[in-house]
Amino acid sequence: MTKNQGIQTPPKELAKIEGCINCGLCLSRCPSLRALAQADEFYAGPRDVATSLSRLETDAWATADTIYYCTMCAACEAVCPMGIVVPDLVARIRGQILQQDEESAHRAHRAMQQSLETSSTIYGQEIEAIGREYRKDRAEWVFFGGCVFSYTEPESIAETMALLARLGVDFTTIDEKCCGGPSAVLGAPLVPALATHNLARIEAAGTRKVITACPRCYLTFSRDPAYAGLEVIHTTELLAELGVRAETEDVVTYHDPCELGRLRGEYDAARQVLRGFGERFIELPHAGALSDCCGAGGGVRGAFTRLSLQIARRRLLQAEEAGANVLLTECPSCLHNLRNARRRQDRVEVYNLSEYLNRLTSSCQRTS
Ligand code: SF4
Ligand code: SF4
Repeated sequence: MTKNQGIQTPPKELAKIEGCINCGLCLSRCPSLRALAQADEFYAGPRDVATSLSRLETDAWATADTIYYCTMCAACEAVCPMGIVVPDLVARIRGQILQQDEESAHRAHRAMQQSLETSSTIYGQEIEAIGREYRKDRAEWVFFGGCVFSYTEPESIAETMALLARLGVDFTTIDEKCCGGPSAVLGAPLVPALATHNLARIEAAGTRKVITACPRCYLTFSRDPAYAGLEVIHTTELLAELGVRAETEDVVTYHDPCELGRLRGEYDAARQVLRGFGERFIELPHAGALSDCCGAGGGVRGAFTRLSLQIARRRLLQAEEAGANVLLTECPSCLHNLRNARRRQDRVEVYNLSEYLNRLTSSCQRTS
């Protein structure tokens, strides 16, 4: 291991960063900057991550710890007129710190990567088997729950599987390990043994088609070369394809998971289903590409739990102020963080869309 060579930025990337016109648009969208400023704590913020921490400066190393506050939500990227992609910079800088001086990386991030290398989850524990009752020798689809769902929200993912079974989707479950995707936010390479394990079990089910409700698994299966050849669909996309319709008495709104929306460009599938609620569905003031982050991503929930909850609390209050009594999403990290930020007196309940649809029982039907 070589110690502290400073932060190295490839010339092409540096040229792009040099294009920063200092307009400050990114500052107004950054959830961590907003929350930390309220708490009188320092965060370099997207512009400074881009213009300062990315340069070849050895003294940048001293302030590099601030990059662990970034949720990698890409809200800054969505408004940057110069196309500066801060989450990629953050991942690269985190990776350089891990490689050059592991001890300087945030301890929660080090622990997550070590867990991925030694166990089947980011939690340092073996994954709980989910959905054994749906296990078959062969099926059209493998349903991949993911380690975050099975560890933090097992009841929710059980409802998702129950819905898919009720809608007649031909799927099986497998003995999973983490998809390996969390390494990308830590700046580390995917642990090959995780992909080897999962691929072997998916193929043993006689398919290469995977359904997942986790946007991080979705990104990993669809983009990481270790999973080349898989056909992946997010639950919201499958529900839209099935033309799922339901009726509700609630006033529902929707939180776009950053990793599904801004990172993947999938905004409409969930809304195709939600529009079936008619006037019972309302949009939040910040939605789609301009959606606010829930605060859970980028390893922030593990490293700075209080900050993460503070960001989630703001999102919950937005839903309440909009007049909703149900806030829907479709992501284990968003779901868990928003639920944890909820207080007893809050009017807004939080569900995954697929979980909520299953609770609507007989009013929920497929139309194709
Ligand atoms: S990716 Fe999100 S948290 Fe990170 S700097 Fe940009 S707006 Fe802030
Ligand atoms: S939005 Fe882009 S150009 Fe404007 S200050 Fe932020 S990084 Fe620089």
